[in-house]
Amino acid sequence: MKQRPPLFVGNWKMNKNASQARSFVESFLPLVETFPSTVGIAIAPPFTALAAAAAALGSKRRVALAAQTMSEFSEGAYTGEIAAPMLAEFDVAYVILGHSERRLYQHESDATIGAKVRAALDAGITPILAVGESLAVREAGDAVAHVLAQIQAATGDLTEEQAARIVLAYEPIWAIGTGKNCDCDRAQEIAHAARTARNAFADIPILYGGSMKPENAAAYMKMSDIDGGLVGGASLDPRSFANLIAGAIAE
Ligand code: PEP
Repeated sequence: MKQRPPLFVGNWKMNKNASQARSFVESFLPLVETFPSTVGIAIAPPFTALAAAAAALGSKRRVALAAQTMSEFSEGAYTGEIAAPMLAEFDVAYVILGHSERRLYQHESDATIGAKVRAALDAGITPILAVGESLAVREAGDAVAHVLAQIQAATGDLTEEQAARIVLAYEPIWAIGTGKNCDCDRAQEIAHAARTARNAFADIPILYGGSMKPENAAAYMKMSDIDGGLVGGASLDPRSFANLIAGAIAE
């Protein structure tokens, strides 16, 4: 029996406008209201839908809000960027940092991601640090080393207290949006290596992400170092996301 509470985060990516976000929340809340309160649930809408989602979620916040990225700077001349204090206005609890799509398309480096992790922690927002290897790296047998290096690069200069406040998401790049989810034992191997890399990681949530679906979520939850999921496609439909969580938390 795991002591760490489960956590499921829906990453909507560049999907849903404000009214679609509102409709999602109105359908989703009744579906999850009977889930144990220890089960953490969050949705990560695009920035333009945060206000609508925040209003629909209300002040009780059974479902938390997450952002999909943020600036490493707190204000200033950074056209197009969004700062942590702006997210705090909507009671954003989590921010996904280092997602492979941002590493690829926005060329975010480990150093930038590390700066964002520190900025999120400073603003009281929990960073969800996404890490994962490409197929080439996996086939070369270097997946564990690659992921540990990403984690070290982004969190190495955090204090123990700071490092204990992050969430890690292991997302093999080849499994994201492909329908080819990672074998549970392989995901556990990486999650275990990450957890034991540093004392501060002993109790943090470690999520799996990459084609997690209602049909396969429970198998990941049986892994001793995996505490939940970072879910893309299957989080876009309220019933699908609620079913995924229900399946994962059912014994
Ligand atoms: C993701 O975007 O983080 C993700 C895991 O996507 P999907 O579930 O669609 O593979």
